[in-house]
Formats: sequence, C-alpha cells, structure tokens
Amino acid sequence: MTQKKNTILIIEDEPPIRKLLNIVLEAAEYKVVECDNGREGVRLAASVRPDLILLDLGLPDIDGKEVIASIREWSQTPIIICSVRNEDEEIVNALKVGADDYVTKPFNPDVLLARIYANLRKAATHEGGEPDLVNGNIRMDLVRHEVFINGTKAVFTPREYDLLRYLIINRSKILTHKQILKDVWGAAHVDNMQYLRVYISQLREKIEPDPAKPIYIVTELGIGYRMEVIVEEVKDVA
Ligand code: CA
Repeated sequence: MTQKKNTILIIEDEPPIRKLLNIVLEAAEYKVVECDNGREGVRLAASVRPDLILLDLGLPDIDGKEVIASIREWSQTPIIICSVRNEDEEIVNALKVGADDYVTKPFNPDVLLARIYANLRKAATHEGGEPDLVNGNIRMDLVRHEVFINGTKAVFTPREYDLLRYLIINRSKILTHKQILKDVWGAAHVDNMQYLRVYISQLREKIEPDPAKPIYIVTELGIGYRMEVIVEEVKDVA
C-alpha cells in the first residue's frame, strides 16, 4: 500500500534535459512519465491522466501549441511550458492557447519545483473548491495527496483515496452504485458492484469510529451510498 503521488508528464525531446527533470522531480517524490514527441505526449496525457504536464515548445513532430490545444479539448490538467529565454512571443501564444505557466531554460530546480507546487495547488483548489477537503474528523490534503484521520496521517491506496475524495466532494448527495463506479473506476466498470462493496468496507475500516455502525458513509438501500456531512466533534477542554 503506497501513498498516492502526483504524476508529472514530461514532453521534451532533448535527452539531457529529460534526465535532469527526472532527477529533480523524483528527488521531490513525484512520479514521472516521459516522452520525446508531441503526439505521444497527447496520448499519454489521456492514458496516464497526469496531475501536471511539463511541455517543451520545440518538439520534433508537432508544435507545442498544438499539443496544448489537443489536451485542452478535454482536460484542464495544469500545463507548464519549458522554453528558452528569447521565445517571448512563443510563450505568450502558448499561454493564449491554454498553458498555465512557464519556466525558462536553463532551469533553476527550486523555481521549477515552486511553480509545479503552485500549479498543483491551484488545480486542487479548483477541483475541490479548496486545497483541503474536510468532513468531521477526516481531512484530505489534495495537494500532497495525504489523508488525516483525527489529525493523524493515515495510509490509503490510490483507489481508496480517489473514492474518499469523490465521496467528500459529493457529500450529502445520494450517489448510485453505477454513478460511483463510473466516476471513480471508469465507464467499463459500472457493473462491478463487488469492487465497490469491498472498497466501501475498506474505507469504513479506516474512517469510521465504529465500522459496523457507519456514520460517515451511509448505505442507501438498493440505491447506493451517501457521505453524511459530519460536524467535527468539539474536544473536551476541561
Ligand atoms: Ca526541444
């Protein structure tokens, strides 16, 4: 069971720069996926669903701006472009077609990591409405992908994390089995009710004060589940 890490897709055709980016990002505990051309980059953006994309504008096959436009047709994943210093007009055009930010080569690793963190934070805030999702004694840090129960960090598998995030974002709504399976597992899994039961029971073990009498994830018989809104209990200060 591993903590879910943010995945960064690098689209860059120069091997030494890819290698440098790899070293910097892995040292900062990001998961890295890379490729050296634009078409594969667009494909990987769809299949890997990275949390952020680092994109070189000068690629051997298609223009970086085309890559951005293709990805923006269906995804709001943050895109940071990597350019050389004298490409001001290119940078402006890339930002116009949907890039979020840019860094110039040669990179200062600290600036690059700060830009990545800022863009991940902004994306997480956009997704959940806030960088932290809180319900009762559960707190999810959407930027660092960490979960705290009663203030203590707990280990969740990536799928448990996704399911918990989905339930908290949609708290107080009745969610059908099919709807949850489609949104968390994908359209191919809408009939895998058994998956859902197993994961719900795993989540209850981790978040419920008494998993046998759940107060957070309530079963809606014959329909699905609902995450109750729990007001955090006031600690006895006496
Ligand atoms: Ca290049």
